[in-house]
Amino acid sequence: MTDKDKSNEQAGPEGNSRREFLSKAAKGTVAAAAVAGAGALLANSDTAEAKASWGEWFQKNYRLMTDEEKKESIARLEKRYTEEFGKKTTVDGTPAQEGVLFGYALNIQKCIGCRRCVHACVKENNQSRDNPEIQWIRVLKMEKGNFLAENMDKGYPDPVGIQVGGNAYQNAGVTLEGEHYYEPEQVPEKGHFYLPMQCMQCEKPPCVKVCPVRTTYREPDGIVVIDYNWCIGCRMCVSACPYWARRFNWGEPNLPKEEMNPNTHYLGNRPRMKGVTEKCTFCMQRTRQGRYTACVEVCPVGARKFGNLLDPESEVRKVLEKKRVFRLKAELNTYPKFFYFID
Ligand code: SF4
Ligand code: SF4
Repeated sequence: MTDKDKSNEQAGPEGNSRREFLSKAAKGTVAAAAVAGAGALLANSDTAEAKASWGEWFQKNYRLMTDEEKKESIARLEKRYTEEFGKKTTVDGTPAQEGVLFGYALNIQKCIGCRRCVHACVKENNQSRDNPEIQWIRVLKMEKGNFLAENMDKGYPDPVGIQVGGNAYQNAGVTLEGEHYYEPEQVPEKGHFYLPMQCMQCEKPPCVKVCPVRTTYREPDGIVVIDYNWCIGCRMCVSACPYWARRFNWGEPNLPKEEMNPNTHYLGNRPRMKGVTEKCTFCMQRTRQGRYTACVEVCPVGARKFGNLLDPESEVRKVLEKKRVFRLKAELNTYPKFFYFID
């Protein structure tokens, strides 16, 4: 697909962006022209892409579709991606299974900050590769710090400046502002620890609450999803997320054909468009088939655990029962299903 084709795909029937189109349509100024434009799109092309564009433009939100509509939509996309990426692509529509509530646990004592999880996630989930590469996982590099009562009346260490009221911590390891784009020669680096972060699949997700078009919602297995076709790119969810977990496609995603993972899920890692939000979905294309997430599989020190919170025998439940566990920003009452633990 050429750049022009891509921008047409994004632009909608009349060359407007989706937001412009919706706003004008609401005012009744484009309806007739849009239908005429979309008709021309169909008339001029019989490709899978043109058919998919037409279909996608007028399709319902995924959770409101009938089973038949879901099947049609999936078949359209499979044809389109197969043609576009030159490899047989599947778009899975497997729904949440009964009796499953997914949860994640991460041992921060074990993490060595190698960032293999970051790269495995990018590959598995078809993120845009450059300008910029979109990464759903951030591994924050934090300085180890000490709490010393005798420092209570002192200021922040240089060069941070003076804090009125004292600061009992040395070093900066008490904030979440750690570095996350680093490529160390050797890990772990002396004097540091690492805090990987990704979507916490909150039980009470603020991102869902603020979405004005209800394109993001929580599935019954606890995974918070985004129907990309309905995202209007307002980025309310990005600002509402207290965990810095959502990413926005400012530009046309750049996914080389040879690197595209053809095993996709409709609500997960299928190729995205410009102007939509995305984030970790606990690799639902894998986990709903009984597999581990890509980040769990790749972690060389076994810091990552995943499983069904409703199954007392699952690894993640064992962690909750036996280890010292905490959740980030617990005071916000978002109830993350992503737990950190120490042995
Ligand atoms: S971590 Fe952020 S994006 Fe994920 S569910 Fe919670 S609020 Fe939403
Ligand atoms: S792969 Fe494992 S050890 Fe490496 S950064 Fe990720 S969580 Fe830490």
